[in-house]
Amino acid sequence: MTPRLSLVSTITSQEPVPAIGYIRVSTWREEKISPELQKKTILEWARRHNRIIVRWIPDLDKTGRNFKRRIMEAIVAVEKQEAREIAVWKYSRFGRTRHGVAINLARVNRVGGELQSATEEVDATTAAGKFHRGMLFEVAAFESDRAGEQWKETHDWRREHGLPAAGGRRAGYTWHRRIGPDDKPQEERYEPNDAGPAYGGLFLRYVNGEGYMPLTNWLNHNGYKNTRGKPWTHESLRWYMDSGFAAGLLHVHRPDTCQGLEEPCKKRAHYIHIPGAHKPLIGLPKEGEEKGEEEQAEEAKAIWDAYLLARERTKKTPPRARQPKYPLAGLTWCGVCEASRAGVFNAGDTSNKYRCKAYERDRSCTGAYVRRSYAEEKTYEWLQSVAGEVDANPAPLPEVEEGKPDLKKVKAQLDARLLKVQAGIDNANTLHALGDLDRDEFLRTKATLKKQREKIEKQLSELEFEEVKAEGAAPYLPAVRNLLEEWDTLPVSVVRGILASLIDRVHMFPGPHIEITPVWTSERWSSLELTA
Ligand SMILES: [Zn+2]
Ligand SMILES: [Zn+2]
Repeated sequence: MTPRLSLVSTITSQEPVPAIGYIRVSTWREEKISPELQKKTILEWARRHNRIIVRWIPDLDKTGRNFKRRIMEAIVAVEKQEAREIAVWKYSRFGRTRHGVAINLARVNRVGGELQSATEEVDATTAAGKFHRGMLFEVAAFESDRAGEQWKETHDWRREHGLPAAGGRRAGYTWHRRIGPDDKPQEERYEPNDAGPAYGGLFLRYVNGEGYMPLTNWLNHNGYKNTRGKPWTHESLRWYMDSGFAAGLLHVHRPDTCQGLEEPCKKRAHYIHIPGAHKPLIGLPKEGEEKGEEEQAEEAKAIWDAYLLARERTKKTPPRARQPKYPLAGLTWCGVCEASRAGVFNAGDTSNKYRCKAYERDRSCTGAYVRRSYAEEKTYEWLQSVAGEVDANPAPLPEVEEGKPDLKKVKAQLDARLLKVQAGIDNANTLHALGDLDRDEFLRTKATLKKQREKIEKQLSELEFEEVKAEGAAPYLPAVRNLLEEWDTLPVSVVRGILASLIDRVHMFPGPHIEITPVWTSERWSSLELTA
């Protein structure tokens, strides 16, 4: 075994012992000691014991149960002789599992290093000191086990009482906490509030074909906020509805799986819905409506089941089966003459086609026919390719062209000029009002300035368009994603509206194929790319 430097000799040599300061904030509730306090304590200990902290390694936000994180950096530093010791606020910072501590301590000791605690003074060079330290590690491991058990017990208790594991507010409910506003303990419970019927009503609306996006818009337009007082997003609404709380259910982690102790488990299959203690919002009687509790419970269950079915259906429907009516209306152009729009014309009940309007009018173009279903399917595929492209290049850099002036700088200059011109107009108004400027001169000045203002404003609006272009498709990604997800549930008018914000033109060609020009670039995407 490598001989270890004794503590006594290092102190008498007067040369400070280099040490790594390791700071970890445990998430265990009972000992959240701030990093600053840990640092201060370790520094004081170092001064008292002739140590010098050569490096700090902060390891924040870990439970202390796993040895996978930055403590390894500290151990490696000792092995590389960068430092001789690792100083921690408490031994428990070093780890809480018996096995991990033993292995890592052995590594540090093997190269003559040592682990020091700033608050538990133990001389680990003696047998008694080693035993003492061993006890402290044992206590840390025991506390860790116990905290895990308590966590689980709390969960079990809440589950048995039909309460959500994490507590907290839920949309459509008033949450009566365990400690009431008058500081008196009370029964914790959730009761439907005034917003309850509105939230409960969302489920049937979804079943009837309204997607998350229109429902989100409806909530936000009618003043319904989420529990943090913010507007709903369609993701947060989906999460809320899927949780089933409004159906009187709790979404809980199954006890026979991974236990979900360490970190919030995200595996869908590990969760089940169980009845909660709270009343469902689905089927709540509207104002003036009479409904028994049992009747409501039955209705809630039926609508909830229908909702789950509708969710499954949406997930499984392949894109080719999703055909809204006329989502490309107004965006289609003939690719042959490029001068005319292509309109829908009906050749029989089932085969709607796009056809060049010039051909239709006077045969001045040879014309192009494209099946509507083809055009829409390819548009959907184009959306997918846009989403995929942006994912592959998460941070698209704006193109920098040789000699192209910095857009921001140009914009700032234009803004400044606009302010000046506006000030000139105001000034002319004032002078005229004071009688210092005769009418003809006033009108001339004003007309000139107004013309200048118009010109600058036009340049500014063009510039803004340029700016968006320079950023590529990224700013449009949320809209693209929404559309991909909700293509079959959104009303056609909404789909068309979003498409119009993404697409400049869709050109139709015989063959058939289509070419899409997005608003952010003049480069066309061709549906032939897919087959090539
Ligand atoms: Zn799990
Ligand atoms: Zn044409």
